[in-house]
Amino acid sequence: MATYSITDFSALGLKPTNAGTWTGRQSSNAGTSLTSYSPVDGKAIGEVSTTTRAEYDAALEKAHAAFVHWRTIPAPKRGEYVRQFGDVLRANKDLLGKLVSYEMGKSLQEGWGEVQEMIDICDYAVGLSRQLTGLTFQSERPNHHMMEQWHPLGIVGVISAFNFPVAVWSWNAALAWVCGDVVVWKASEKAPLCAVACQHLWNQVATSNDLPEGISTIVTGAVEVGQWMTADMRVPLVSATGSTAMGRKVGSVVAERFGRSILELGGNNAIIVTPEADLKMTVIGTVFGAVGTAGQRCTSTRRLIVHESIFNKVVDVLKKAYSQLTIGNPLDPTVHVGPLIDSAAVAQYERALTEVVREGGTILVEGGVLSGPGYESGCYVKPAIAHVENHFAIVQHETFAPILYLMTYSTLEEAIALQNRVPQGLSSAIMTLNMREAHTFLSAAGSDCGIANVNIGTSGAEIGGAFGGEKETGGGRESGSDSWKAYMRRQTNTLNYGNNLPLAQGIVFNI
Ligand code: NAD
Repeated sequence: MATYSITDFSALGLKPTNAGTWTGRQSSNAGTSLTSYSPVDGKAIGEVSTTTRAEYDAALEKAHAAFVHWRTIPAPKRGEYVRQFGDVLRANKDLLGKLVSYEMGKSLQEGWGEVQEMIDICDYAVGLSRQLTGLTFQSERPNHHMMEQWHPLGIVGVISAFNFPVAVWSWNAALAWVCGDVVVWKASEKAPLCAVACQHLWNQVATSNDLPEGISTIVTGAVEVGQWMTADMRVPLVSATGSTAMGRKVGSVVAERFGRSILELGGNNAIIVTPEADLKMTVIGTVFGAVGTAGQRCTSTRRLIVHESIFNKVVDVLKKAYSQLTIGNPLDPTVHVGPLIDSAAVAQYERALTEVVREGGTILVEGGVLSGPGYESGCYVKPAIAHVENHFAIVQHETFAPILYLMTYSTLEEAIALQNRVPQGLSSAIMTLNMREAHTFLSAAGSDCGIANVNIGTSGAEIGGAFGGEKETGGGRESGSDSWKAYMRRQTNTLNYGNNLPLAQGIVFNI
């Protein structure tokens, strides 16, 4: 089995320690440190210092000072710095992808894919930096011009989840930067070394262009550091990615102080499989969606809603596909399923399988925790399939693990109702070659999710479109389309170039 070389992360700003691990300490503070363990082999990879309250406040001051300068730089010039950052990422794609894979446990292909997403969003942001356009309006008053402008907000706080330890930050950062904002990032406490590496790579751009510190800043630590940011009046926008439980707290605290938030929270994504589906495509989409990243994507396929006439056939092909899955070290290119992030995630997985049976479900493909050589971290689990009812409490809940719930339907209307009858609303799909079924699914009476696909699975998304979901997924949108508007404030301008001061709505005010 392939092994990771953890001897060469120094190019990412990590320093080797005598213990054979890495340190990404940002300061010599007396605060506690955070150790990062790899779910791949259970070993400590390295440690970072946790940010103290005083350091946090100093970082925010520095970020504000940087913003005052950064907002005066023309947007296309800011785009040029983002272009350079994309090039630095290109040069470090291999190593950063390896660190992502080792620290988070996703396959190396997916680790590289995540860095590629960072590069793509940089390219996107470069073009966007010349397209931050506002509208002009016809004024009802003579000799008046009306228009709207988009101005930067200030400090954008990013709180990120463990499962996309670098890409989600870059989706926010690249857009925020070209919009004229600066970014303070509270990364997941489960993947802090990835954040140190990203900061190190940005620093190369900042240093070579003589840019001030504070355009990009990381603050490290657990929930508490995120709470400081959420309550901080100096942070007009908090973009938070993580569980619905986290988003509920963050959203209400930010709203309480009239700040803005982008919430990118949990999903409970389903694929509808109709009698007119291409079964081969269905199996590829379903299996990748359910077991890819060990079921730890917000867009992972959790539910398969299958027409009753083809249920047995679908179960047979899925059982066959699952019997061929290899589970192990994600660096090995022949492996399909890597580890879960930690023992708490394994416990959630086991609890979900127990609950399914307790609620009356039938296990179709057995799960279980793997042990023995190669599985020493205790984080490797078998992808499982269960036949369930949609209303089971456990099915309504997002379990971040490779468990696929199968259920049947008889009419398309019923299938769409089942798909929508969960609290979350991130991603959805239908597998059909029937045009009526496809368009019904995409219509206003169809899927209620932020993402609705036809003949591809629920998992993964391109950066060109807006990414995010409805209901308990939080309603936020990131990445493409007009998501950039969330990072700016809109200003309506009316300019009078005449000799009189006519009032709007024809009001006469004689003095
Ligand atoms: P999590 O909610 O445990 O933590 C996410 C981040 O929020 C961490 O940095 C954590 O320290 C911080 N945090 C937690 N409580 C907080 C609080 N009260 N105030 C401020 N910050 C707080 O999530 P996780 O386990 O890291 O990630 C998995 C979850 O993220 C899943 O639910 C998944 O669906 C979701 N996710 C959603 C998207 C999306 O775009 N919709 C993308 C990736 C992950």
